[in-house]
Amino acid sequence: MASYDIVIIGGAIVGSAAAYFLREEGFAGSIALVERDPRFSHAATTLSAASIRQQFSIPENIRLSRFTLGFFRELKDRFGPEADIAFREKGYLILAGPDGLPVLKANHATQRAEGADIVLEDAEALQRRFAWLSGEGVSAGAYGLSGEGWFDAHALLALLRKDVKARGVDLVAGEVVSVERTGDRVRGVTLATGERLEAGTVINAAGPDAGKVAAMAGLALPVEPRKRSVFVFEARDRFDDMPLLVDPSGIWVRPEGAVYITGGAESEEGEGPAEPGDFEPDWPLFEEVIWPALAARIPAFEAIRPGRAWAGHYEFNTLDQNAVIGPHPQVANFLFANGFSGHGLQQAPAVGKALAEWIVHGGYGTVDCSAFGYGRIAAGRPFRELNVI
Ligand SMILES: Cc1cc2nc3c(=O)[nH]c(=O)nc-3n(C[C@H](O)[C@H](O)[C@H](O)COP(=O)(O)OP(=O)(O)OC[C@H]3O[C@@H](n4cnc5c(N)ncnc54)[C@H](O)[C@@H]3O)c2cc1C
Repeated sequence: MASYDIVIIGGAIVGSAAAYFLREEGFAGSIALVERDPRFSHAATTLSAASIRQQFSIPENIRLSRFTLGFFRELKDRFGPEADIAFREKGYLILAGPDGLPVLKANHATQRAEGADIVLEDAEALQRRFAWLSGEGVSAGAYGLSGEGWFDAHALLALLRKDVKARGVDLVAGEVVSVERTGDRVRGVTLATGERLEAGTVINAAGPDAGKVAAMAGLALPVEPRKRSVFVFEARDRFDDMPLLVDPSGIWVRPEGAVYITGGAESEEGEGPAEPGDFEPDWPLFEEVIWPALAARIPAFEAIRPGRAWAGHYEFNTLDQNAVIGPHPQVANFLFANGFSGHGLQQAPAVGKALAEWIVHGGYGTVDCSAFGYGRIAAGRPFRELNVI
């Protein structure tokens, strides 16, 4: 039986970032990073829209993304001159109609207070800035002048995994099927092969399956997989100044090289968990909801050529659409890094850093993640993020 100081369940961006920052914080003990799908064909990380923003409603989420932004800027110092995640700093543009205006304004004030480089402009000013935009039904928009954009998630994941492997983290291929717990301590995990890994500490980094993994330890976590489709299309016109645009309807679109990608039409109302094997894009959403909305917002998109599409599962926290970070209050050697609800890729480096600080130094230093703690889950007290895209 193998024995590790730390077993991380899930080896995609959150698990890999935790392992990376444990080493960065000087943790010299043994670490197993356990992943059942080492090609990451179904991970949220590799099926995401790979974008980063400062435009959140609560300061803690802005701070997490701002840490990651700094991490992106230091990438070559950390990983060498060849390190490149193709970060395109093109901004987000979040539009609001009359109904959404008060929230947009309040969010903007919070973001500015955190030092985020976001401007709030009315429809006329936005149309002067972006000639391709229709201001129909738009009261205002918040636009990130810097610090927001998109990047290559595969490249970021590969950098982290290569680095932790070189620093003695065991990349274990296998599926955790049970977590052994006696009283207020977890003792280890068992893989589908029957192999058992003894663990001093277990980190749950299982993404959309985090609720299932928590249940293996007898702990309740309101995180479930929700299906999200992303559609690719071509258009005749190229808009080099185009940010990631979020329409008041919630539909988003952004350039991706020579094409565009779009999504965001799912309605959360009455929505249930995704079927485990269902990665089929929801095509009617594109035809019936997304395309008409895009054509109304960007008239040049009336004539487009739809291309391929994919669907991923994201880790939806049904209590408050926000992360759950840190130890369980009673089972203190079981740590959560879950429930990011669509913004976990950009938060992963910051969360990895926070968990590593907690484990190595006994408390948070860089970004205080106490507000994301499990206590609120146990109390059923939401800590709600309003900007869920
Ligand atoms: C369509 C879509 C668009 C998105 N766009 C963005 C975006 O623009 N920006 C952003 O920040 N976020 C975005 N997200 C969210 C983001 O992808 C996730 O928050 C993030 O990737 C979560 O990382 P993770 O490592 O926790 O989860 P995952 O990437 O899902 O990784 C979890 C891993 O755990 C493994 N695992 C699970 N259970 C077990 C087990 N029992 N044993 C062993 N291994 C296990 C899985 O195989 C998987 O590889 C998007 C998500 C989707 C689906």
